[in-house]
Amino acid sequence: MDRKEIVNRSRRKRRSMTIVAAVALILAPLVWAQRTQLKPGWNMFSPQQDVEMGQQVSRDAEKQVPMLNNSRVDKYLNNLGRTLASHAPGERYPYQYKCVNDRAINAFALPGGFIYINRGVIEAADNEAQLAGVMAHETAHVALRHGTNQASKAYVAQVPLAILGGVLGSNNSMGAMLAQLGADFATNSLLLKYSRTAESQADEMGTQILYDSSYAPHAMAQFFQKIQAEDGSGRPVEFFSNHPNPDNRIERVDQEIELLGGSPRGSKTDSREFQDIKRYVMSLPAPPAKGGTQLAGNTGSGTSGLRILGASYGAQDRFIDVRQRLESRVQNDRLHLQVTNSSMGGDPISEPKSLLLRYEWAGRTYDVVVPEKQWITIPTEQQQTGSTASSDTRPGWPSDRVRPFENSVLRIEHPDNWQAYGQGDVAATITPDKGLVDDGRGNQALAYGVIVNIYEPQTDSNYQKQLQPEGYGQSSGLFMEETTNRLIEELRRSNPGMRIIRSPENIRVDGQRALSTDLSNDSPLGGRETNWLVTVPHAEGLLFFVFVAPDSEFQSYNHTFRVMLDSVRFRR
Ligand SMILES: [Zn+2]
Repeated sequence: MDRKEIVNRSRRKRRSMTIVAAVALILAPLVWAQRTQLKPGWNMFSPQQDVEMGQQVSRDAEKQVPMLNNSRVDKYLNNLGRTLASHAPGERYPYQYKCVNDRAINAFALPGGFIYINRGVIEAADNEAQLAGVMAHETAHVALRHGTNQASKAYVAQVPLAILGGVLGSNNSMGAMLAQLGADFATNSLLLKYSRTAESQADEMGTQILYDSSYAPHAMAQFFQKIQAEDGSGRPVEFFSNHPNPDNRIERVDQEIELLGGSPRGSKTDSREFQDIKRYVMSLPAPPAKGGTQLAGNTGSGTSGLRILGASYGAQDRFIDVRQRLESRVQNDRLHLQVTNSSMGGDPISEPKSLLLRYEWAGRTYDVVVPEKQWITIPTEQQQTGSTASSDTRPGWPSDRVRPFENSVLRIEHPDNWQAYGQGDVAATITPDKGLVDDGRGNQALAYGVIVNIYEPQTDSNYQKQLQPEGYGQSSGLFMEETTNRLIEELRRSNPGMRIIRSPENIRVDGQRALSTDLSNDSPLGGRETNWLVTVPHAEGLLFFVFVAPDSEFQSYNHTFRVMLDSVRFRR
C-alpha cells in the first residue's frame, strides 16, 4: 500500500467517524462499535450478476415449488421484508419475499434478494418476531452473498482460468454458466446448501437485522430451537437440510445480542396483522400433494407471440412495477424503446437505474437487465429467427467518443458504444454489441473486445513474493516473463488452438513495464483470431489484458485497442 492510499483511507475513516459521532448524539443507546462485523467473502460475480442469477434461478424455482400466489400473504411478507431489508448492510438488492404453498417448515434465498418462505413457517411461528427472524436470516444470506460465494468457489475449482471461452460478462451467458456449475434450481446443491460457517454468519447478521428493526432479537434463535424440538403439529422440518445447524447456535446468538447491548426494552414481538395472516393462511386449502407435477400455468408449446411476464425499474431497494406500461408499448409482438425515466413513467431513485424484465417469446422465457439510457429490442433478432447465426455478425464501428470504466485496480477508457461488464473487483470484459457470440456449445465467447483479469500463479509463495511491481527487485523482469509464459500455458489448456505468433516484447503501460505477446487462436465465429496479450506485474499476481478480434479485422481494431491501452491508469 503506498502513501496516497494510506492518506485516502485515513481520510475516509475520519469522515465516517464524524458521521458515527453525529448519529451517536442523536441515538445514544445504539451500540454499533461492538457488533460482529460481517462482510461477504470472495466473489467472482458482481452484485448485479447476483441479481441476474437470482432472477434466472427463481424462474426455475417458481416452476418447481408450488407457489401460494396469494397477493394478501405476499404483500404482508414484503412489507415485513422491506423493513428488515432496509437494515441489511451492503449492496441494496431488490429484495422480494414470496410465500410457497408447502406446510413443511422451510425457507430459502436466492442470490440478489429472491426469498421464499413456506406457509409452514407462518403457521408454525408463535409471533411476528419469529417469522421476522427466519426472514432476517434469509436476508442475511443474500446480503452476505453466500450463494454466489459458493458458486465462485465451485467455478474456480472447475475452470482454472475463467477467461477466454468467455462465460464471464454478458447477461445471456449466465444460463450457460449456471448449467456448467450445475447450479440450476433442480440440481441445486450449490446456491442453497450453506456451510456451517455461513449459517453462523447468517444467524449473527440476522440477529443484528432483527435488533435494528426493533424486533425481539432472541426470536430467531427461539424459532430454530422450537422447530428443532419438533413443533408437534406434524409439519415436517426441512429447514435444516439446507441450513445446517451450526455448533452452539443459541449461545452464539446470545453472545451477539450481548454485543448489541442486550435485548432492548419495548422491542416488538407480535402484531395483530401477523395473527390475522396466520389465521388466514391456516384457513387456505391444503397445498397440493408433493411429488406430482406442479407446473402451474404450463406454458403450452404452441404459444407464440410476445408476453411481458414482469418488469420493474429502479435501483437498490426502490423499484416501480412497469409491466403494464411495457405491455402497452408492445406492437406487432415487438417492444422497442429506450429505457429512460419518461418511458418508464417515473424516477424512483436518483441513481443509475436498470430495467429488470422477464418475457416470453415462442414458448420460452427470457430475463434481461437493461441499464438506463439503453435501447431495448425484444424479441431479439436471434430469438425471432430462432437461430444463433445472425445475418450480420459484425459489430458496428467503434465510436471515437470514449467513456471510462473503473474498478479496484485500474481505469480504462473504451469506445462509448462498447459495453463494460465488471466481474468482482478486478475482472472485466469490454465488448461492442455483437462482440459476444455463442460458441455453439452454449457458452458466450468473446469474438471482439478485451478481457481484463489477474492471473495468480498457483505455486510456492517464494515465487509469488518475487513477482512484484518494478522497483522491488532486479529480477522482476525475469519473473514477469516466466509468469507470462505460465499464463499462456494456462490459456492454451482451455484454448487448444492457441499459438504464439510473436514472443513477448517489452512495452510500457501507464509508465510501468509490461510485456506484449501476440497469439493466434480459433475464433468462435469460425476462422482464426488474433489475441493481443499484455501482461503487467501487480501486487496480487499478473494483471493481463487480452484484446480480441478476428484475424481479418484485427488491423482495423488495432488503433482502438492501442488507444484503450494508452488510457489505462493503475490505482496506486
Ligand atoms: Zn441459513
